[in-house]
Amino acid sequence: MQAGKAPIVVVGAGAAGMMAAIFAAEGETPVLLLERTRDGGRKILISGGGRCNVLPSVLEPSRFVTLSSSHTLRRMLLGWPLAEQRRFFEEELGVPLALEPETGKLFPVSNRARDVRDALLAMAHVRGVEQRFNTRMVGLDPHPAAGSWLVRLEGGEDLPAAAVILATGGLSVPTTGSDGAGLAIAGRLGHLLHPTFPALTSLTADPPRHSALAGISLEARLETTGPEGRLATEGGFLFTHRGYSGPAVLDLSHVAVLSRLRGGPRPSLTVRWCRLEERDWERLLRGESGRVETILRRHLPDRLTGRLLSEAGVTGSTDLSQLRRGDRRRLVEHLTRYPLPWTGDEGYRKAEVTGGGIALSEVHPGSLESRRHPGLFLCGEMLDAFGPIGGHNFVWAWATGRAAGRGAARKVGATMADS
Ligand SMILES: Cc1cc2nc3c(=O)[nH]c(=O)nc-3n(C[C@H](O)[C@H](O)[C@H](O)COP(=O)(O)OP(=O)(O)OC[C@H]3O[C@@H](n4cnc5c(N)ncnc54)[C@H](O)[C@@H]3O)c2cc1C
Repeated sequence: MQAGKAPIVVVGAGAAGMMAAIFAAEGETPVLLLERTRDGGRKILISGGGRCNVLPSVLEPSRFVTLSSSHTLRRMLLGWPLAEQRRFFEEELGVPLALEPETGKLFPVSNRARDVRDALLAMAHVRGVEQRFNTRMVGLDPHPAAGSWLVRLEGGEDLPAAAVILATGGLSVPTTGSDGAGLAIAGRLGHLLHPTFPALTSLTADPPRHSALAGISLEARLETTGPEGRLATEGGFLFTHRGYSGPAVLDLSHVAVLSRLRGGPRPSLTVRWCRLEERDWERLLRGESGRVETILRRHLPDRLTGRLLSEAGVTGSTDLSQLRRGDRRRLVEHLTRYPLPWTGDEGYRKAEVTGGGIALSEVHPGSLESRRHPGLFLCGEMLDAFGPIGGHNFVWAWATGRAAGRGAARKVGATMADS
């Protein structure tokens, strides 16, 4: 088969792959989207608690994590500016977005993740993308005809492709379909892979010292010092039966995970349980009257108040005028620099994304074409980058998916024009 007659094959109908297929279809070449699950976009469906945090209202490139060049990351991330992404969703895809003011996140007005997934699949369909579900890629080989590919499917079928876009995701939440197969294939084709690790995952404590507080959520500030320096996060904090979760924990979790994987000392994570800083508590505990617990309960959930008082060895009914200096200092320490007794993490089972992956230097940042294999494009979570909670990881998937789709369409178009 001549290269020009075969389709552009997109492997993986997740966020990046659907976007890649939509934009690859702007060219003249037919586009085929392969997906191993029965419907695709499973992570979109469970994202944002079933509401899908499609985008952030403000993009924070400096909070992305990569082992590759942060300059390259920025270039790829900003290749499709946030305002244009928002316009695409609202005006072209027909999914109006609403701002959640307290978090700065953008959700579909309908608050239904399914609307996002279905709209992407529908647009791909309207643009003529052929979609094949329950179809699993098990191998990928350069085709004997130069510049084209053979996509090997489970069951023995081999599909010729004029270009291939790999968008098979990472290793997080494997029940959504991403099991790392695409990463392994990219590695076998000679690409440099940075070691992968679970990121944006919950932390565990063994023994679970705070399991009695499970279900309590509050706004907290966490701080740690990892190999890359000091890192602080602010936001939701949740006590779970096994440990700790919530955005503030997830956004720091890679420091904990990496320390485990590298076998170094366990970094300490300290918590400030509310907005009040050390000097604010000092002022309250010295200047107000009444019982200690009454003051604390104004700012903290009851059960947490009781727990912190008991751990600090302070009786809650003590009158503030009777609170000894040493007790006050210890209590303020517990309120503002509490050492979280974490011991592990929930791993890929709960990780929202995969850290590490294909080194960004392996692709051309504008087109996402592999530098090793012309005609092969790599995008989404497979690449070595992830962002904080808040819609940033979809920004990455949308931006790299679109660039790969356009890159593949341009490449195949140019090849056909030459032949
Ligand atoms: C619980 C949870 C909540 C999240 N919430 C948010 C959020 O609100 N906002 C945000 O920005 N990010 C969120 N994320 C992260 C976001 O979902 C991911 O960053 C994004 O989905 C990655 O897109 P992707 O297309 O690269 O990979 P994936 O979404 O993982 O898609 C990969 C696709 O490839 C398919 N596939 C894999 N292997 C094969 C194969 N061999 N053959 C054929 N098909 C294959 C898979 O079935 C899957 O459909 C969340 C993640 C999780 C787990």
